[in-house]
Amino acid sequence: EGVTTLELAKRCGQSVATLQNILVNVGEKVGSEFDPLGIDVAELIAMEVGVNVKRLHSYEGSIVLPRAPVVTVMGHVDHGKTSLLDALRQTSVAAKEAGGITQHLGAFVVGMPSGASITFLDTPGHAAFSAMRARGAAVTDIVVLVVAADDGVMPQTIEAMSHAKSADVPIVVAINKCDKPASDPERIKVQLASEGLPLEEMGGDVQVVEVSAVTKKGLDKLEEALLLQAELMDLKARVDGAAQAYVVEARLDRGRGPLVTALVKAGTLVCGQHVAVGAEWGKIRAIRDMAGKLTGKATPAMPVEIEGLKGLPMAGDDITVVDSEERTRMLSAGRKKKLEQDRLRKMDEERLRKIDEEKLRKMEKEKNSDSESTEEEEEPTRVELPIIVKADVQGTVQAVTDSLKTLNSPQVFVNVIHVGVGPICQSDLDLAQATGACIVGFNVRPPATSLSLAAAQANIKIKVHRVIYHLLEDVGNFVVEKAPGTF
Ligand code: GDP
Repeated sequence: EGVTTLELAKRCGQSVATLQNILVNVGEKVGSEFDPLGIDVAELIAMEVGVNVKRLHSYEGSIVLPRAPVVTVMGHVDHGKTSLLDALRQTSVAAKEAGGITQHLGAFVVGMPSGASITFLDTPGHAAFSAMRARGAAVTDIVVLVVAADDGVMPQTIEAMSHAKSADVPIVVAINKCDKPASDPERIKVQLASEGLPLEEMGGDVQVVEVSAVTKKGLDKLEEALLLQAELMDLKARVDGAAQAYVVEARLDRGRGPLVTALVKAGTLVCGQHVAVGAEWGKIRAIRDMAGKLTGKATPAMPVEIEGLKGLPMAGDDITVVDSEERTRMLSAGRKKKLEQDRLRKMDEERLRKIDEEKLRKMEKEKNSDSESTEEEEEPTRVELPIIVKADVQGTVQAVTDSLKTLNSPQVFVNVIHVGVGPICQSDLDLAQATGACIVGFNVRPPATSLSLAAAQANIKIKVHRVIYHLLEDVGNFVVEKAPGTF
């Protein structure tokens, strides 16, 4: 009694061909569009085109409860995002249980005396936020906009505001560094208002809190403001039924394999379930809370670490529970195929674009030589800068790659030829030597002395940083060296 391909296509608003493509990709038989599809297969396809039709129905009457808000910290470089997150993390549930020591796992939960809690995403910055959104992961409920009281509204402050606005995510302003003698919160408020942010004390609905990440003053006020904002938003989630979740961060552990920090949006993720995660798949072998304690399941807004995937997914990938290993495998194979197709298509487009550019340049040159201009014009060539990116976790790999691409210009083409999670190793060096690439490490240990020596001998540049801004500056200088007259 399954639906036909034709019917499903109509209901999903997709063409029959699109659905048939998916069928091929997941290794199912493609029959006539009038043949009925099995329920499983229909559901699989609906999932792939982002429609949850079947499932929504079966969730009718399910349990919906309030959930904790998920918060991202944004703001200009050096205004104290990292410090603020560090200070908040120290008050987190995990830190309390672990005696104050926690590692960066991509997210943490702060519990309030009232029993309410707030989930913070532990990667500051816009690149991470954008990377998640690019994958369709609308994870963040509230943005904390950090502005240093001794500095004021800066370009990235405004950028953060527009990010939040375009994602339709409300802002709570944290004016930081209020401990500094030079701090002038009132001036910041005026600046923010003149940038069009409707502050509460001026009749708008954006709350402003004065804090110091160093003295920890005002952190409780900030948490209160976030809970108030959350209350206004009336955040709720279905708690029963199959989980819908997102990857916040993924990393490789030597002993345990791929580890994923996941955040459940709805439903309950249960140990032992088969999941498709982006283009990866696996069976959940263990679920740990942020304090590292084994827990059998995860409910909405509760960040957990899951173990058991076969490969490393990307930040923002969605986690879908699938009923059998066979299906997860099929789904993952289908998605991998699609990713590969997309990659090839992009490469093709890039190639065509280059050819077009070339043609255009030729034509222009001919035009120039037609006109009386006889002097030799130096032809501008685009310098290619091959780069290998290594970072501590998948999320930062993506963020670093994205930010490096902002260095692209008509003169310079930043070509990220390889990315990876983990420290810089011999194979990176080999690749760099073969391609003339420069190696960029973010949040990773500096390479071992022997590697550094080998790199120096082979004239391979290695740049290791912990602050994106510094990294961009460094690579930017390198670009200037390679392509003088660029900036
Ligand atoms: P980010 O680039 O926004 O993540 O900024 P950081 O957290 O790295 O902070 C930049 C600098 O400002 C560091 O030297 C911090 O120690 C300092 N800082 C951060 N918050 C405060 C604060 O509340 N008061 C003071 N006095 N310094 C702060």
